[in-house]
Amino acid sequence: MKSSGRIGLFGGTFNPVHYAHLRAAEEVARSLMFDKVLFIPAHNPPLKKGVLASPEERLQMVRMAVEDNPLFEVSDIEFERNELSYSAYTLKELKERHPEDDLYFILGLDAFLDIVNWYDPESILECINLVVISRPPGHIKDLTSSPFVEISAESASIFERSSLSRYETKLKNGNSLLVLNVTPMNISATLIRNLLGDGKSIKYLLPEKVESFIMSNGLYAR
Ligand code: ATP
Repeated sequence: MKSSGRIGLFGGTFNPVHYAHLRAAEEVARSLMFDKVLFIPAHNPPLKKGVLASPEERLQMVRMAVEDNPLFEVSDIEFERNELSYSAYTLKELKERHPEDDLYFILGLDAFLDIVNWYDPESILECINLVVISRPPGHIKDLTSSPFVEISAESASIFERSSLSRYETKLKNGNSLLVLNVTPMNISATLIRNLLGDGKSIKYLLPEKVESFIMSNGLYAR
């Protein structure tokens, strides 16, 4: 890795990884001129319930999904610890490993609004640049409900109605928060798991290699 660069950190359960993850990461990387985006699958996500593929299977699917994109890499940092995957710890560790780089934590709007329920959200908001990406059916004005963000309903709706693709606002701790509009794709891992559970096709929702892996390992079938 280069000694200094701009790196996006994209954490998730990736259960499984799908095209909305990949497209959003591509658009953020291009828009913010990142040198790379590190996908960071959670080893043992504290808040996710429901059917999970094994951590190793989720990691392997992310590896397959990103291998063709030179901007994308996978970090298995959360697999080095056997405890719950707390983002606060992961980000602190990554900052220590990349002292020369500018690190940006990428979160979907839904995930950012949920951060209040995470372990030590204040330290996450304190330690790193944040990029929040749009995600249907959420709206940017939903940010007004976050206890961490300084944004008026009026400026949120101006941004929402404008053709601007990015918007910078402030967190209450004084740090800046970058909001990016990415191509809306109403795909979720839950949708994919539900389709599989009902024996339906998941074609074109995720890379073919990942689809084949899911099928040949019988993942998520009920
Ligand atoms: P699940 O349906 O199991 O909750 P998910 O599809 O939300 O999964 P995650 O692995 O939980 O996927 O998401 C990782 C990150 O990607 C989160 O920050 C999430 O907000 C973001 N993300 C997931 N799907 C989309 C999407 N369709 N558009 C924008 N961001 C997304």
